[in-house]
Amino acid sequence: MKWKNQILNLEAYKPGKTIDEVKKQYKLESIVKLASNENPYGYSPKVDQALKDFKASYILYPDGYASNLREVMADLLNVDARQLIFTNGADELIQIISRALLEPGKNTVMANPTFSQYRHNAVIEGAEVREVDLLNGKHDLKGMLSQIDENTAIVWVCNPNNPTGTYMLEEELQVFLEQVPSDVLVVLDEAYFEYVDKDIAYNSLSFLEQFPNLIVMKTFSKIYGLASFRVGYGISSIANIQSLDPARPPFNTNVLGQLAASTAILDKDFVESCRLKNETEKQKYYDFCQENHLSYFPTQANFILIDFACDGDKISQFLLSKGLIVRSGKALGYPTGVRITLGSKAQNQQVRNAIKEFMELNS
Ligand SMILES: *Cc1c(COP(=O)(O)O)cnc(C)c1O
Repeated sequence: MKWKNQILNLEAYKPGKTIDEVKKQYKLESIVKLASNENPYGYSPKVDQALKDFKASYILYPDGYASNLREVMADLLNVDARQLIFTNGADELIQIISRALLEPGKNTVMANPTFSQYRHNAVIEGAEVREVDLLNGKHDLKGMLSQIDENTAIVWVCNPNNPTGTYMLEEELQVFLEQVPSDVLVVLDEAYFEYVDKDIAYNSLSFLEQFPNLIVMKTFSKIYGLASFRVGYGISSIANIQSLDPARPPFNTNVLGQLAASTAILDKDFVESCRLKNETEKQKYYDFCQENHLSYFPTQANFILIDFACDGDKISQFLLSKGLIVRSGKALGYPTGVRITLGSKAQNQQVRNAIKEFMELNS
């Protein structure tokens, strides 16, 4: 076969072990998955009702334009319906953006470590990847600006950043956007936006008018608890969306996903209750880390990256043997860390107990 060269050296995404695999391997009854930052509190109960009431046929293709979801979202976000693109998860939007803009001879700038799919898709398109190390877990925006040249097509900003959970403030983003050339697309990935503390959160859509080269990316997979439905979306200028749309597969979001998303987005109480619980649970992890002299990044998301000052695989393997699936920092650019999704109260207590046990065994 005549595979692209870059494909031959690329590894497929390795998801954490599945619940069934861990059950079998360790002969455990109950497994807690805290590896992919899904919502431990589920999703809005209104979604179940909407799905139950759903009557249309599965035989026909879905509405490729996601008209109903589009209308709901345009209304809610106060944007023109043509400023929106809906995708099979935000992952697919990353793919579409990369396909539409990247090719050999072009380059793309991103932080390191950050969400792995920016790099992955850029490599497939044959573009040069310019990674700029984080500074104390935060994007080094000055460093990123210095990497931009006339061949730069995309700059990725993950806010809050996965895997560190750090958040850049409105002023920082403003200053950054002012300095990015207007023909370079800035992708602002806000997969965890809903978790950000209310006193520092800001509406990045207010930047769209001043910066038509900005696209904001969001998802229903995290706080909305609908990861399995695969719905993400982007908000940008009408012109940008028109240019991206030909790279979008015609029926990329499905009928149930569209329905679940348009129902979930209206249940603001559910989202707020999850944010508050997350805040409470986050504080308990902070206290635990301080008591046990573990360093961590203060997080604005529903995960925490903790440094155990030992091989991250070792502690994540230990947690796995207890039925707790977390993400070793080894695969995330922090070899001595572990990224743990903030679960429910009981789940988090279980994790902290297991960590204590690990530390006692290894001290
Ligand atoms: C989870 C995640 C996504 C992708 O989410 P989808 O499930 O594809 O919508 C995108 N960006 C970041 C930073 C994420 O953590």
